[in-house]
Amino acid sequence: MSKFDLNAKKPFIIAGPCSAETEEQTLETCKLLAETGMVDVLRAGIWKPRTNPGSFEGVGLKGLAWMAEAKKQTGLPIATEVATPKHVENALEFGFDILWIGARTTVSPFAVQDIAEALRGNKDINVLIKNPMHPDLALWAGAVARFENVGIDEKNIGLIHRGFSYFGASKYRNAPMWHLMLEMRSKFPDMPMICDPSHICGTREYLQEISQTAADMRYDGLMIESHITPDKALSDASQQLTPDGFKKLMSKIRWRAGSKDDPEFIKALGMYRSEIDQLDSEIFELLSRRMKVAEKIGEVKKDNDVAILQERRWGDIVDKVVTQAQKLDLSEEFIKTVLEAIHIESIHRQNKVMNN
Ligand code: PEP
Ligand code: MN
Repeated sequence: MSKFDLNAKKPFIIAGPCSAETEEQTLETCKLLAETGMVDVLRAGIWKPRTNPGSFEGVGLKGLAWMAEAKKQTGLPIATEVATPKHVENALEFGFDILWIGARTTVSPFAVQDIAEALRGNKDINVLIKNPMHPDLALWAGAVARFENVGIDEKNIGLIHRGFSYFGASKYRNAPMWHLMLEMRSKFPDMPMICDPSHICGTREYLQEISQTAADMRYDGLMIESHITPDKALSDASQQLTPDGFKKLMSKIRWRAGSKDDPEFIKALGMYRSEIDQLDSEIFELLSRRMKVAEKIGEVKKDNDVAILQERRWGDIVDKVVTQAQKLDLSEEFIKTVLEAIHIESIHRQNKVMNN
């Protein structure tokens, strides 16, 4: 069977269990997923990089044979995660079409280089590279370069956005940081980028909203974890969907068109866009005036030998703006983010005045 073409179909959907656990679980999950008609590639983890030793670390070699059997039975291409050259060698023997680099591997240039060397000159394999655990786009781009440097065609390389780990409690297991994805897309405009809502969410309840955001941001596909009995899964139990749940999720996602030729639509959009451009220019005009005033304050403080940061004054500003924000239908979180950026720049300006 020929290699899967990453650029042939949009969106392309990868689905399958987090881990292959038993032959029956693997084949049954893959069969039911294939029957939905909504899957382009089957996935299963064979070697699992786990936080704690002693957790389920994957079934190893025998799982490769189960996936090869799933490919035979369904006619669908297969994908798995590789973290060492030995994994690469084994997966290639079993006819895998796509190998992906996990988030814990992308952070390690030595490991990525070793994997790339094991694929040197390979014209058939597709490589999908997950974002590193932490939000370092240069490291992610470096991993792409390592595969290009060993002769993997850029058409055979893709990116997976699985979110970023961070300290503290939050709604998602891994922060999506969508704005970073826009930056990554502009670095690699022609490279397919898919979203992995399962690892962003960590629980089933947010899969729909994250998948929809990915569709709205024109991602090229999705990778979704699915298991015949998710609650009994040996890894990532709370984020996996039954094949039926997967089907429901997929059928609710709206993949809207990127643009439309309709003149009415173009006119309406054009009107609002020029309004936005006008408002943006007014916002920056005002910000520039605000910074000039901050500089004047800096001069007054310098003349009087007073420190830049006046905590009470800053607290008053925040309170005032937050109250106003509520009336203006702006969220407190948003307004605080904006205000903080303004404050940092103001301090910077005052600093320049005072120490020049
Ligand atoms: C996985 O896909 O099962 C996995 C381990 O993902 P990540 O590398 O994104 O944590
Ligand atoms: Mn998983």
